[in-house]
Amino acid sequence: MTLEFSTYDPGATVRAGALLGPLLAAGDVIVLAGDLGAGKTQLVKGVARALGVDEPVTSPTFNLLAVHPGVLPLYHFDLYRLEREADLEDIGFYETLEGDGASFIEWGDRFPASLPPDRLLVVVHRTGRDERRFELVPSGARSELLAGAWLAVVSADGAQL
Ligand code: ADP
Ligand code: MG
Repeated sequence: MTLEFSTYDPGATVRAGALLGPLLAAGDVIVLAGDLGAGKTQLVKGVARALGVDEPVTSPTFNLLAVHPGVLPLYHFDLYRLEREADLEDIGFYETLEGDGASFIEWGDRFPASLPPDRLLVVVHRTGRDERRFELVPSGARSELLAGAWLAVVSADGAQL
């Protein structure tokens, strides 16, 4: 079964993220793959909104990790510029993933060996100027549950599919 949905403008991607937010629990790991400008950060903006984060969310390309306090802490990584996998240790990657919040990792697919076995991979495909296809690839019991629940609420939202 293909787990996917599409959005047709940036606002719909933010909404899709906002629908995921309430489903998240501490320790959840979402890996965001897709080219620059695909819409990974737009999705995280929506998640942040749902979690009550009131500071702006941008790609932490230079800091590698942004911590946003919310109903559930939101840990937002961007590993685009990380050169060595060994440096993940220094930025507290492993402790953060196991911590008290949900982690979103832009470009996390660059370091598959460092990811926990059960994570939800979201591949963002640019299918048109304002059209994006979100492919969900779970890899364990928790991420399968999350993917299913998220798709259900996105479908119910109607505008997304
Ligand atoms: P990434 O984090 O993947 O590099 P961003 O989320 O920062 O990408 O940027 C996505 C860009 O694409 C934004 O400029 C946004 O306005 C634009 N865009 C156009 N259509 C969409 C869409 N359907 N979903 C998300 N972003 C879109
Ligand atoms: Mg980004």
